[in-house]
Amino acid sequence: MITVPHAKINQTDGTGYDAGAIEFIGYLESALDDKNVKYIVHVGESHRELVDLNRKEAYSTEYHQELRALLKHATLHIDLHSYPFVSEDANDEEAITTLGDDLRSWSVHDLVILEIDEVSNRELINTILDTMETQFDMSVVDSTVDNYITVVASILFKVPSILIEVNDQSVEAYPLMASALARAVADFA
Ligand SMILES: [Zn+2]
Repeated sequence: MITVPHAKINQTDGTGYDAGAIEFIGYLESALDDKNVKYIVHVGESHRELVDLNRKEAYSTEYHQELRALLKHATLHIDLHSYPFVSEDANDEEAITTLGDDLRSWSVHDLVILEIDEVSNRELINTILDTMETQFDMSVVDSTVDNYITVVASILFKVPSILIEVNDQSVEAYPLMASALARAVADFA
């Protein structure tokens, strides 16, 4: 099962959503089809400014009710996000996320895996690194339980779960990244 919570574009200025994740999910779906891996993609329809579906405040939303229903049948979960490219000479205001991550250091990578202690599935992360690390520029970054969707999957439903962020700028690499990720998922399952 794949969640893409930040899929809804902010209509006023076209920001605040995971543009790269929307693009990437199409490639991932085809790659999973090629591997005969069955999947469900659960896409968020709420503006992040109104309710951030990846925070515990979103627990009672329809998105989370559906999420809990779907997780009952899931064997593996990927929470898929993306981040904008921020150049290394950008200032802190542009570069630091609400959770304190520095997008200047993320931006040198095609893909960042956020690892949350006692939540993220280490074995799944290792499988993905083994499959993808030689081909792509990747990093594993420590993160927090504020990332609520992966916490729900892993802790409440005991489904092996990870959080992946793709670089909005790495579009050209998406087809190959998606097929490598699909291979890792098939190997893990
Ligand atoms: Zn996101």
